[in-house]
Amino acid sequence: MTSNLTTANPGDPVEDSTPTLPGMNTLSVHGGDNRQRAHQAIPMPIIQTATYAFADTADLINFMQHKTGGGLVGREEYGRYGNPTIQSVERKVAALEGADDAVLFSSGMAAITSLLLSAIPTGKHIVMTNDCYRRTRQFCETFLKRLGIETSIVACGDYEALEAAIQPSTRFIVSESPTNPYLRIADLERIADIAIRHKVRTLIDSTFGTPVNQRPLDYGIDYIVHSATKYLGGHHDLLAGVVAGRKDRIAPLRDARGVLGGIIDPQSAYLLERGLKTLGLRVSQQNATAMQVAQYLEAHPAIERVWYPGLPSHPDHAIAVQQMSGFGGVVSFEVRGTLEQTSRFIDALEIPYIAPSLGGVDSLIEQPALMSFFEKTTDERLELGIKENLVRFAIGVEDASDIIADLEQALRVLA
Ligand SMILES: *Cc1c(COP(=O)(O)O)cnc(C)c1O
Repeated sequence: MTSNLTTANPGDPVEDSTPTLPGMNTLSVHGGDNRQRAHQAIPMPIIQTATYAFADTADLINFMQHKTGGGLVGREEYGRYGNPTIQSVERKVAALEGADDAVLFSSGMAAITSLLLSAIPTGKHIVMTNDCYRRTRQFCETFLKRLGIETSIVACGDYEALEAAIQPSTRFIVSESPTNPYLRIADLERIADIAIRHKVRTLIDSTFGTPVNQRPLDYGIDYIVHSATKYLGGHHDLLAGVVAGRKDRIAPLRDARGVLGGIIDPQSAYLLERGLKTLGLRVSQQNATAMQVAQYLEAHPAIERVWYPGLPSHPDHAIAVQQMSGFGGVVSFEVRGTLEQTSRFIDALEIPYIAPSLGGVDSLIEQPALMSFFEKTTDERLELGIKENLVRFAIGVEDASDIIADLEQALRVLA
């Protein structure tokens, strides 16, 4: 059998025919690793080069004769087409997602825009759920629209509407799970089933889910995208994006990256690989702390409502329990107070930074009305479902007891 971690050598003993999948921590450390290292280094070195030299003209001609449209055998040609440090991370993400292959980009948006641009022909159609990442929706409704690609938006959780929105020209269903900021959960199996019946491809933005908590490919989803800036990197120190899926779907996307140019640089790829080694550890801790925080907040008299898929009070709790092994590190909640009182509570917190983003070791907190929806009026915000007393807390890896003590002292400003 072929090991799930490394490619077996021909002489390796043949083991039991039913391989057990390694755990998420083992995959985080060793997943996709072929253990071929320059200078016997343990981490994959940063191969900081923009281009690659040929020994002589015969070497060049041999390479040109054998190269297969971007997926090059044994060596590289030019930095926009590939880099060993980047490929090492791609193999690890693929192993974590249970995918054949993955392709890395300079940001989550570069990943999403490159995939949609390259996979959807002019005149075709997308169905998208309404609480997708704002910039993804903006890209579809402006840039893709200019190319004659229309997008229909349907309410998250309304599968009849989703199916009804599919037209003969539909090529993609684009959804996200969990979503921001209410952590709605898409029924992945149901979406995949609708897509397969209508011969439409599916893309799930799994950024909030992480491969530790959910593996959408197992439910028949075609493409997974991550903003690796969030949990995968995990330290608020890099921007990256990744798309994972079947080999024959990822190969053309890798070719498209060579044209569109959104490849990540080797330094950031190295930081991402370093971050990924602790993905399992970090996300387990974030899951556990977020659950405690959600329960604490739900019982607190100064809190009006908590949104966390691990709580039975969440509208999608049942499906979350079915398809997730943990519920993530983001807890959203509404405090009893006005816009200004909510800000005062946030300002009284000592542990989290006030910042956009999520998924890193440092806790971050934000008031969506003032962060992502600052330019809107109160009424416009409410129309978009954004209450002014809403808080999004992206929990890091600090001790749960300290985070709860900090919330306790800060909530006193609302008393
Ligand atoms: C942050 C984010 C993105 C965009 O990723 P960048 O790395 O910032 O480009 C896309 N989707 C979701 C769900 C995100 O949270």
